Amino acid sequence: VNLAVARLMNARRRRPADPPLALEAYRTLAAPGALDTARLLAGRPNAERARLLETVLRDAGFPVQRQPYRTLEGAGVNLFVDVGTGPRMLLLAAHHDAVPGSPGANDNAASVGILLALAAGLRAAPPARLTVRLAFFGDEERGMLGSRVYARSTPLDDVVGVVSLELCGIGDSLAWWDVTPRLAETPLLRAAVGAAEELGYRRDESYHLAEPVPFFGSDHRPLADRGVPGVGLTVVPTAAAEALRAFIYGGVRGILVPPARRPPPFTTYHTADDRPGTLDPATLGRVGAVLDALCRTL
Ligand SMILES: [Zn+2]
Repeated sequence: VNLAVARLMNARRRRPADPPLALEAYRTLAAPGALDTARLLAGRPNAERARLLETVLRDAGFPVQRQPYRTLEGAGVNLFVDVGTGPRMLLLAAHHDAVPGSPGANDNAASVGILLALAAGLRAAPPARLTVRLAFFGDEERGMLGSRVYARSTPLDDVVGVVSLELCGIGDSLAWWDVTPRLAETPLLRAAVGAAEELGYRRDESYHLAEPVPFFGSDHRPLADRGVPGVGLTVVPTAAAEALRAFIYGGVRGILVPPARRPPPFTTYHTADDRPGTLDPATLGRVGAVLDALCRTL
């Protein structure tokens, strides 16, 4: 349904696509940042996004674990990079696919870029007693297919939590979502809150713990279904926080509002306008810093 709606919506709204950053140009960058990676991936077909992501991870010297899958629902690949050697594992996830007709910059090439940049920092100074697994899942837009395959095929006993990044390239407030009272008491959420506050974010002002979200989902959910503490992370403009709350929790009428009349970042969500030009490099850097602090706090 998700893919069909996007295909339909974007069929009428074709606009000339921004050409993606060429791999050759990306390779000439001394230290590619999150925005560079987003510009490399956005606007390309999904198979090419996966292939290029694997290429640049290997170029950067990371051993990449591949999990190809072929099911009745579709075929694709999950990619993983582990940093650190601790006995406990934190999963940081960003899906690498996009919906048809959308360049998929904020959803979700920006998050892929954030994790790639974070990996370089973590490798230089790995957190103590923790392995951080950067999980680049495929086919999130196809009912979270890649993460479902992973959740049912992988032992999860040592996983202390999973954070799934979605729409992390526009805005200045952090929204940790799908937070239940029980999840709020887990080491994952305590560390998330601790990391945010250490960096100056304030509860209900510049960071929010949002209750379970209807209609939308992300790759933490299949893992949460297997008992792993899981949370979504999205960045929103502070000025739009109230309008967003009404949009997200306002029932089915809210989500039927056409994109142009939604609060940001949902104005471009799943549309042909989800271009790298809409991303804010400062936002990408802030999310990376919060995740780095989270790893160290945990
Ligand atoms: Zn997404």
